[in-house]
Amino acid sequence: MTKFKDHKANYHTHIWLCRHASGRVVDYVKEAIKHNFNILGISDHAPFHVLDPYSQYRMTLDEFYNIYLHELDEGVNYGKKHGLTVYRGLEMEYFEGYDEHFHDLLAHLDYLILGQHYIPIKDRLVSVYALKTLDDIKIYANQVIKGLRSGYFSMLCHPDVCFWGIKNPTDEMYEALRPVIKECVKLNIPIEINANGIRRVELEEGLSARDYNSYKYPRPKFWQMVAEEGATAIVESDAHDPKVLNDFAIEIGYEFAKDMGVKVITELEFKENIYKKR
Ligand SMILES: [Zn+2]
Ligand SMILES: [Zn+2]
Repeated sequence: MTKFKDHKANYHTHIWLCRHASGRVVDYVKEAIKHNFNILGISDHAPFHVLDPYSQYRMTLDEFYNIYLHELDEGVNYGKKHGLTVYRGLEMEYFEGYDEHFHDLLAHLDYLILGQHYIPIKDRLVSVYALKTLDDIKIYANQVIKGLRSGYFSMLCHPDVCFWGIKNPTDEMYEALRPVIKECVKLNIPIEINANGIRRVELEEGLSARDYNSYKYPRPKFWQMVAEEGATAIVESDAHDPKVLNDFAIEIGYEFAKDMGVKVITELEFKENIYKKR
């Protein structure tokens, strides 16, 4: 069985630029080296102008070019000297009609991961932390499927975060996510068991991280569906602080996967990036 001490690669990693994380790229690189990682993927929240009226918790495009890419270079070089492969990535929402923006970013990166934190409802964007109804969940599922089909993303982050604001989702709500899981199987995109959701119940709410039913995400019922569909899971820190890159929540994440009966991969296969310019 895989244990957290065997967690040797992490692809969902934030840095200070998103304004709600701490640490520079090189701080995460040093932490990864300390834990004998083979691979560290940095994936801070992407600049995306469509989200500007809704949230400031991401780097600007200017910061992407003038700070992020330089920090990534520094991290890649530092890692190389210590036997750690560092990959350049971003966590990003998907919205239609912005292909040029995706191509511009991918020109400088190795991979993107899909973290859909906003969805279009009527004529505005709504935070996934505020979803309430079955219709909301269906819209969320559709938007995620569009993102998966875009071909830009190598991993689906925390799909069950859509239940954040719903204490007891109905069976129908869970079932509305089944097409997302099926799409991941079809496109061979792993689904993330997000350790940040596990971490947060303990650190923010004082609940036991050993009690799966205390999580707002990952939700056990959703992961039973993942097991039923035979989709692939990957345990990720979603680190917003270097010291949680390989913490207790990672360990519980692997136990959770085992208890849910889902198959876990530890290394991510990136989607082909034909836009890469270097
Ligand atoms: Zn974040
Ligand atoms: Zn994240």
